[in-house]
Amino acid sequence: MRLTGKSAIVTGAGRGIGKATALQFAREGADVLVPDLDLATSEQTAGEIQALGRKGVPLRMDVTRMADIQRMVKTAIREFGKIDILVNNAGITLVRDMMKLTEAEWDRTMSINAKAVFFCLQAVAREMIKRQSGVILNASSISGRAGKPMLVDYCASKFAVVGITQSAALALARHGIRVNAVAPGIVDTEMWEQIDREWGALEGKPPGEMKRTRVAAVPLGRIETPEDVASLYTFLASDEAGYITGQTYNVCGGLQLN
Ligand code: NAP
Repeated sequence: MRLTGKSAIVTGAGRGIGKATALQFAREGADVLVPDLDLATSEQTAGEIQALGRKGVPLRMDVTRMADIQRMVKTAIREFGKIDILVNNAGITLVRDMMKLTEAEWDRTMSINAKAVFFCLQAVAREMIKRQSGVILNASSISGRAGKPMLVDYCASKFAVVGITQSAALALARHGIRVNAVAPGIVDTEMWEQIDREWGALEGKPPGEMKRTRVAAVPLGRIETPEDVASLYTFLASDEAGYITGQTYNVCGGLQLN
């Protein structure tokens, strides 16, 4: 068990990669706060953590609201007494013809995927600085490594996460806080169901075809599972990664090379 005695927050852990990460953290011995927009899915994940014998705490929150961020930190301190790990996982995507992207769409993506990552990090870091210890992990993407024509706002937000990660790692290293990011590829979650639908509609392709075509380009020959990403988060959260900070790691089956 690599996270025994640790307490973690995983945002957007009601489903997908966040849920897989929260459960893997619990299996490794951590207690986990599970903030999500949807209280029902948050409660479901928290219940599964409790069934593993760990403390799983549900919380309805919107990561873009500063009051909710304060409530998230207060809840974690009240329930656990400390925060060892933050995973800034909550995120959204949107497939759009770049020339039709609106200001409101741009603002929404940047607000959830980039601005909220920074302000959740800042609020949790205040607690971590008191103990001179902590790990913060952020969700970037292979779309944060190279541009994609139909994902300009998403790519901008995921590149921003790399910059936030590097800057925060430098600022917080002297407080014993490590900050890293992960860059997944095509993960089998509801997010990719949505990408397939929206991208397929733009290109006149039947449901499932865009996803099949993209997965066919993955050198390891299969779609990525949420657990593939959770495994990297777990390693980076553990003491085994104690000399790693400021980095963004691809976990994409080699897709970034294709
Ligand atoms: P997902 O299945 O769509 O799940 C996203 C989760 O975030 C949902 O539980 C959602 O809540 C929550 N969320 C969204 N907006 C929120 C907000 N404002 N406040 C709080 N929670 C919010 O996505 P995923 O595939 O697991 O992706 C997780 C992260 O990995 C994202 O940052 C994504 O960009 C990144 N990523 C994913 C892929 C991929 O292929 N799937 C690849 C690279 C990077 P609701 O259920 O209530 O909407």
